[in-house]
Parts: sequence; structure tokens; C-alpha cells
Amino acid sequence: MIKYDPKSLVAEEFINDEEIKATLEYADANKDNLELVDKIIEKAKERKGLNHREASVLLACDNEEKIKEIYDLAEQIKKDFYGNRIVMFAPLYLSNYCVNGCLYCPYHQKNKTIPRKKLTQEEVKKEVIALQDMGHKRLAIEAGEDPVNNPIEYILDCIKTIYSIKHKNGAIRRVNVNIAATTVENYRKLKEAGIGTYILFQETYHKESYEYLHPTGPKHNYAYHTEAMDRAMEGGIDDVGIGVLFGLDKYRYEFAGLLMHAEHLEAVHGVGPHTISVPRVKHADDIDPTDFDNSLSDEMFCKIAACIRIAVPYTGMIISTRETPKVREEIIRLGVSQISGGSRTSVGGYAEEERPHDTEQFDVSDNRTLDEVVNWLMRAGYIPSFCTACYREGRTGDRFMSLCKSGQIQNCCHPNALMTLKEFLMDYASPDTKKIGEELIEKEIDNIGKEKVKEIVRERLVKIENGERDFRF
Ligand code: SAM
Repeated sequence: MIKYDPKSLVAEEFINDEEIKATLEYADANKDNLELVDKIIEKAKERKGLNHREASVLLACDNEEKIKEIYDLAEQIKKDFYGNRIVMFAPLYLSNYCVNGCLYCPYHQKNKTIPRKKLTQEEVKKEVIALQDMGHKRLAIEAGEDPVNNPIEYILDCIKTIYSIKHKNGAIRRVNVNIAATTVENYRKLKEAGIGTYILFQETYHKESYEYLHPTGPKHNYAYHTEAMDRAMEGGIDDVGIGVLFGLDKYRYEFAGLLMHAEHLEAVHGVGPHTISVPRVKHADDIDPTDFDNSLSDEMFCKIAACIRIAVPYTGMIISTRETPKVREEIIRLGVSQISGGSRTSVGGYAEEERPHDTEQFDVSDNRTLDEVVNWLMRAGYIPSFCTACYREGRTGDRFMSLCKSGQIQNCCHPNALMTLKEFLMDYASPDTKKIGEELIEKEIDNIGKEKVKEIVRERLVKIENGERDFRF
């Protein structure tokens, strides 16, 4: 038997199968124990989070009244920590060359039906200009794993190109990176290149399933993959984003694993994950999601989001365009703080006139333009934010977390959201979006707590009208 130890650096000790199984048994035994459920909800109200056992009890509980309490609390915690801001980003696919054999991903090496493509620096430039012209300021770069075609030097060149492009009033101010698990040395290089968050999905925390789903290639190594965030932190990256690809294995197992991973990072590095992503397996070339028999209903998916929100209140939550507008609306309400918009999941998909599908990583379920997504968010009462200030001001890792935990982050985030939204309205919005946005900004200025900050924001909004850009607190 392998002993559970959140402080260990060995994958199977901090993501411990025995502990997860014991957690699920505990959750089953207590899901109708309403006294305990109440106690856990009361603890969650302190906004200091829950451990994987407590959160698993709430996830298992099917008492309707209690579920409503959990949802209401998730919504309230989200409001308290993130206000009504939603941070916007877009994925940028650099290359679909891949040497792995992931059974759920169309980029797997044996797939001969998709053309393989890797962007040249000239093509990266075209993609970035197209993204800037939509209004994006924050990207997540994506690539398959291929040491020959996509070595770290290629990724670093792309990051350099992305940051160097200043087209009209556009700029990409934060590049997050979603590439395969790598070495401490390579993480250090990514850090030096000025990346924001390093994102790596665990796919599944269940070791046996993991090995089955990744039969070939370097990704087959469960320990190397699971320990990647520790190496990233050792390499100096202090904002890391974790996630599970829901649908591959049993969601309750994954949920407990995800929280144990967060607890491990907090225990070892003093800072939990910056973000948690909740992707679900989607149809893609060569991939039929029904081949994986662990798909979960939209209702359960939303419940997972609500339970994550109250278990790790200070961790951002990301939802992509894998989900439909309807699911996105519900899950945003329950806790998501960051969404993609206007996304293309194909290599070279932004600059192409005709939308190419043949290199897509998965089918997108929300096909609206960024302007349409921004418009929709504002109509639903949210402030779409293009802010990238925290990381550029050095508010990362434990500095970010301590500000976030004390609620201080709102004094910067709210005004920054308004100023970056104003930039979007001036440079990229349709007339209708502009009109709604201007009204929203006017209304939301009143929600800035400090008079002095209010005054500065008003001055800066005028400056933005007059062509100046990139103000931040
Ligand atoms: N190749 C890198 C790696 O191995 O981690 C990461 C980049 S990959 C382009 C990004 C993520 O897309 C994967 O981690 C996986 O969770 C997700 N993905 C792959 N196939 C998918 C599918 N059919 N539906 C939904 N998401 C998928």
C-alpha cells in the first residue's frame, strides 16, 4: 500500500489511489448525513475552502435543498472574490505535430487523416494580427508534443513573436502556455520568456486509465506528467493551471484527484493552482466521445463547478468554447471566472478566410464572434475584462493569492476591467456592443469603492477616448 502524503513529491503519494477510494466511500456513507453536510456548508461559508473529503461529500449529496444551498453559496463566493468580471482569452494552436498516442485526441500520432501543420513565425504573426483585430489581449498557446517539430526553442520563438507584434492599437499582453510536461530547465526558459500561466491538464488522475488512454509516447509516463507542476514551480513558474478532461474516467474520482492536486501544490509550494479548467471530451476528427463511457450530464457538470468554486474560492476557473452558450451561462454564474471567445481550435484558423476544420483539435460548441460573446456577457450583467495587469505588476503566485484571499484584488481588478473594456469598445466593438458597454462602464464606475480611484479611472477613460492605451492599477 502506498501512503498518502500531500507533501510528497511522488505522484502516487500525493494523488493517492487508496485515499481517493476512501474519500469516495466516506462521501457515499455521508451523503445523506445532513448534519455533516450542513457543517461542511457552514465551513465553506468562511471562504477558506474545503478539503477533498469535505467537498466530495457535497458533490455526492443529492438532497435538493442542500444542492440549492451549495449553488447559492458558489454564486455568492464567486461574486465576493471575482465580482461580476469575466476575463477573456483565446487559444492559439501553433502545431498539431504530436508523437503521443492519446486515445481521445485527434492529434495522436497514428491519425493519418489530418494534415499536419506547424505555423512559421510569419504565420504566427498573421494569427496574432487576426487575434488582435478581434480585440484579444490574452492568449493560451497550444501545441502537440513533438521534440523534433515543436522543440522548446520553437515554442520560445513563437512567444517572442507574439509579444513583439504591435498592430494598430493591439497587443498581446499575456501569453499562457499549454504544452506537454517538460523539464525544469525548459520551464525556466518559459518563465524567462515572460509567460503568464503554465497550463497542463492531468486528463485523468486514475493511473490505470491514464496509462490505457496514453498507450504510447512520452505522455504515457503517469508520474512524469503528474509531477509536472512541481517541476514548473521549481523552474520559477508560480502561476500554474490544472484541469481534468471530464468524460475519460469517473467524475467523482477526478474531482477528488483535482482537489488533492491543489492541496499538494499548496502544501509543498505555499500556493495552490492559479486556475482550474474543466474541459469535457468532445467530438473531433477520428474521435467519437461516446467511445468514453464516463460522460456526465450538464447538471452534474455544473454541480462540479459549484463544488470547485466553494472548495478553492481563490482559484480562477476556466471554461472554453467546448461548451454550448447555454452551459457556459449557467457555469459562469456558478463560479467560472475566465472564458475563451471567438476561438479557433485549428492550426492557422484565425488568419484563414475560409474556416478550416481539418486540423481542429475538437469541435467548438460556441461559434460566436468575440464581439457577440462580449455583448452577451454584458447583457447578462457581467463585465468582460481584457485585463492582464496582475502578472505584469508581479502579482503572481503567493503574492496574488494573499491579495486574493484578503479580498484586496478587487480594488485593482474592477477598475482594470472597466479600462480594458473601454479599450475594446473604442477599437473593436460593433455599434450595439459599444452602446451597451458605455452604459455598463458608466454604471460600474459607481461600484469603485475609493473616491480617489474613481477619479483616476474617469481621467483615464477620457485618455483612452483620446487614443492612449494600456493603463492599469
Ligand atoms: N499536447 C499538450 C499536452 O499533452 O498536454 C497540451 C495541448 S492539448 C492541445 C490541450 C488539451 O486539449 C489536452 O490537454 C486535452 O485535455 C484536450 N483535448 C484533447 N482532445 C480533446 C477532445 N477530443 N475533446 C476535448 N478536449 C480535448
